[in-house]
Amino acid sequence: MSFEKINLIRPIQKALQEEGYKSPTPIQERSIPIILKGKDLLGCAQTGTGKTAAFAIPILQLLSEVKKTAYKKRTIRSLIVTPTRELAIQIGDSFSAYGKHTGLKNAVVFGGVKQRIQTDKLNSGVDILVATPGRLLDLMNQGYISLHAIELFVLDEADRMLDMGFINDVNKIIRKLPTKRQSLFFSATMPAEIVKLAKTILDKPVKVEVTPESSTVEKIKQSVYYVAKPDKKRLLVHLLDDQSIESALVFSRTKHGANKIAQILSKKKIKAEAIHGDKSQNSRQRALHNFKSKETRVLVATDIAARGIDIDELSHVINYDLPNIPETYVHRIGRTGRAGLEGTAFSFCDTEEREFLKDINKLIKKSIHVVDNHPFTTPTEITEKPSLPAEKQNRAKVKTSKESKTTETKSRRRKRNPKKAFVNKGRN
Ligand code: AMP
Repeated sequence: MSFEKINLIRPIQKALQEEGYKSPTPIQERSIPIILKGKDLLGCAQTGTGKTAAFAIPILQLLSEVKKTAYKKRTIRSLIVTPTRELAIQIGDSFSAYGKHTGLKNAVVFGGVKQRIQTDKLNSGVDILVATPGRLLDLMNQGYISLHAIELFVLDEADRMLDMGFINDVNKIIRKLPTKRQSLFFSATMPAEIVKLAKTILDKPVKVEVTPESSTVEKIKQSVYYVAKPDKKRLLVHLLDDQSIESALVFSRTKHGANKIAQILSKKKIKAEAIHGDKSQNSRQRALHNFKSKETRVLVATDIAARGIDIDELSHVINYDLPNIPETYVHRIGRTGRAGLEGTAFSFCDTEEREFLKDINKLIKKSIHVVDNHPFTTPTEITEKPSLPAEKQNRAKVKTSKESKTTETKSRRRKRNPKKAFVNKGRN
């Protein structure tokens, strides 16, 4: 299948050729014709599947085909709402790249930076707006943005919107949209709440689903290192001694952890930077740029900051902390092994994280290979066989079973309410 078969207009075909795209990805092949027919779409796809182009290409085509002359100046006719600044910037870049011969203009607005550059751009007139929810509402309230002419609306990464607590903002935005419009809704997962939200936005949507979470990881070489928590730093430095690891994205559960890991690596003369929600937009962009240009070898990130980061040639992902949500593991390691390249994922697992590993193995339907010959190894199973006299052994047994009860209760509690278990540690 080639892009020509989808009947794309010449200016878009040309731009795609210049981007080096030869054929559409499965989500593009299936979604573009549906969107071009004017239908609403419910897309179940994660970052890395080519979903941005799946909505950007047909939006550009539809807006180019029907030129609006009713407005004196350019008016926002398409709105894309996405949860993070990084995603917003990347989506804006995609519209600029695929639309560079169409004459259509886009702007990107997100919080955490001064609004002046964004409002200047809006005042100069744009056709397509990419926005994060908070800044969008803010600029709407100040009168810089009106949604009255929106013909095409996209809600991107809906499940992440929910996770990040943007649902009220999203509802406020939806209420301001014209009722006559075409809507596209994308989410990596479809829990009940997301299905409910989709129903409020979409009208008789066509559902398109690509690559179930678990199958995307098959081509990635995965291994797990059992290691005591305090030894994780040394294990990381030890692994990075291998110079064949060209670039590694290291995941930390907390922002503080990410900073610490980057500091430890820098002390060991391993070029590393951290990226998370407490960093300014400029420093996040700079860190990302340095990593992409291979100036820094290691980028340490939290899940939310890393969401949507688009790095084509990433050889290694390292889970310094295992995620408590197994789908997050799949998202994380899916950053490597892209575009047919080989990918490797290492995961560190301390005793408290063994439950998480079990959940991950269950989701991906295989047991990740355990590396047991590393310098900081801890036993695979904790077996306690005290060689004590009978009476003392009994006392020891009582103590052991009490201890294990406490551990079990804690881990069960964490499984039941993972967010609460980490509430004091901060998740971004
Ligand atoms: P996304 O899922 O939208 O984040 O896209 C992931 C990556 O795939 C981006 O780097 C895109 O530039 C790239 N990409 C999207 N569509 C294609 C295509 N048809 N051919 C080659 N690369 C693509």
